[in-house]
Amino acid sequence: MADPDPFVDVLAANAEYAAGYDLGGLEAKAAKGVGVLICMDSRIDPLHMLGFGPGDAKILRNAGARVTDDVLRTLILARYLLGVERVMVVQHTRCRMAGGGEDDVHEAIKDAGGPDTRSLSFLTTTDQEAAVRLDVQRVRSSPYLADTTVGGFILDIDSGRLRRVC
Ligand SMILES: [Zn+2]
Repeated sequence: MADPDPFVDVLAANAEYAAGYDLGGLEAKAAKGVGVLICMDSRIDPLHMLGFGPGDAKILRNAGARVTDDVLRTLILARYLLGVERVMVVQHTRCRMAGGGEDDVHEAIKDAGGPDTRSLSFLTTTDQEAAVRLDVQRVRSSPYLADTTVGGFILDIDSGRLRRVC
């Protein structure tokens, strides 16, 4: 007998979700004009933490909420085609990407039975505030994103509170 589909649980949950689905009429544009870059950390609920729901904001996620070329590419599309006028860069406390250096992460992956990843950069930081400021500056200095309002924040993962950094 073939192995069960490893996605059987999520497909079953989706069938229930689809049965009650009523978001088909939403616009693709971000209704609140906000784009949020935030960490992939599964403890974070980016819409609810800002008082938003589906349709309100564009959410971009990666490890550590770092501004990469792909984030800039996505923000340019969001800015001109999808209604985004304000961008929030949100890193968070107790983030794995802010807990140590690159070597720590390479070592942890190896210890977990993974491959040698030393040819990759994971964009870790040991100074999270400086990283937020740098990433906000990266967005602001993109010639394609001039006149976009950008703010930098750190989310306290224990209290749920946002602190404005810049
Ligand atoms: Zn994180």
